[in-house]
Amino acid sequence: MNRIHSLYAYFRRKYKCRIQKLPLDANATCPNRDGTVATYGCTFCNAKGSGTGLAKIMPSLREQAHHWQQHYNRADMKNIAYLQSFSNTHCSPERLQQILKECNEIPNLLGIAIGTRADCLDDEKIAILADIDLPEVWLEIGVQSIHTRTLERINRGHLFDIVPDIVRKASEQGIFICLHLMAGLPGESAEDFLSTLHTVLSLPIHALKIHNTFVNSGTVLEQEYKRGDYTPLTQEEYIELMCRAIPSIPSHIILQRIIADPEKTLVAPTWAGDKNKLTRLLPDTFEERGIWQGCDADVPNKLPLWFSSIEELPHALHEDYMQEIEELHSIHPWLVS
Ligand code: SF4
Repeated sequence: MNRIHSLYAYFRRKYKCRIQKLPLDANATCPNRDGTVATYGCTFCNAKGSGTGLAKIMPSLREQAHHWQQHYNRADMKNIAYLQSFSNTHCSPERLQQILKECNEIPNLLGIAIGTRADCLDDEKIAILADIDLPEVWLEIGVQSIHTRTLERINRGHLFDIVPDIVRKASEQGIFICLHLMAGLPGESAEDFLSTLHTVLSLPIHALKIHNTFVNSGTVLEQEYKRGDYTPLTQEEYIELMCRAIPSIPSHIILQRIIADPEKTLVAPTWAGDKNKLTRLLPDTFEERGIWQGCDADVPNKLPLWFSSIEELPHALHEDYMQEIEELHSIHPWLVS
């Protein structure tokens, strides 16, 4: 049985079909790279801004979506258009509307997820996003840390103080919020990460993406690493940290990611390149220690069956599962269809 509330379980429970996030590149830029607030970006960020770079060879979003649909090749699949590269609301309201219109033309579209930064959102853009007539409208906001000294050291270009207001406004408008956090940032201790986690959990959010900080080639962080000014977390340290973090995360929060997916440009730590190993190690460690998401928060007595999809559970548990779903629906209707 799954010990965290994954995006897969959420989609499966709510829509009962395969949902795929299609990583799209709207040729956006970032205020931290184009000179609006800085030019060299966050110290860990490579020149691709975590994106696919697909816009250079395939400018049309519909064409990009078609490319991914062919790649996944599932006729029954519904799609989330995931505007992943750079900061996708760092543009005029008119441009944002145009991007959303293009996304809307993608076949079998269930929703849109927009990667951005808090300093690229305002009331007008939130209103535009709230107007999207799709069941899944997500804002994925890079936060990384709440600590000013860290945000300055990684050249984030804005501080945490602008995040809560934006999150509250977007959430009030019915937009789902996923915040991105990084563990093992330069100069941070385990306690620093945990205080970031607990601070963002006090906001009206729906999901988190968490991963360890890794060093990519061509970044400022690579220079720090080579000078000996930055030491990434070891795999053991990251697992220990997750064993402290996961129990305190309430069960309704969807953990869209707790394992990084580094690119070929990974310099360190080398263990982060073996995603499959961590995908086995983390749940095994949770099981050995008898911990699950929310066991120190809202679900102390029992691992929720609905962390798994009904298909993953033995038949003998299906009735209990359905009962738990009814209870879940009464508390968090948005998590159930
Ligand atoms: S905000 Fe994102 S895209 Fe911009 S520099 Fe930082 S990590 Fe890169």
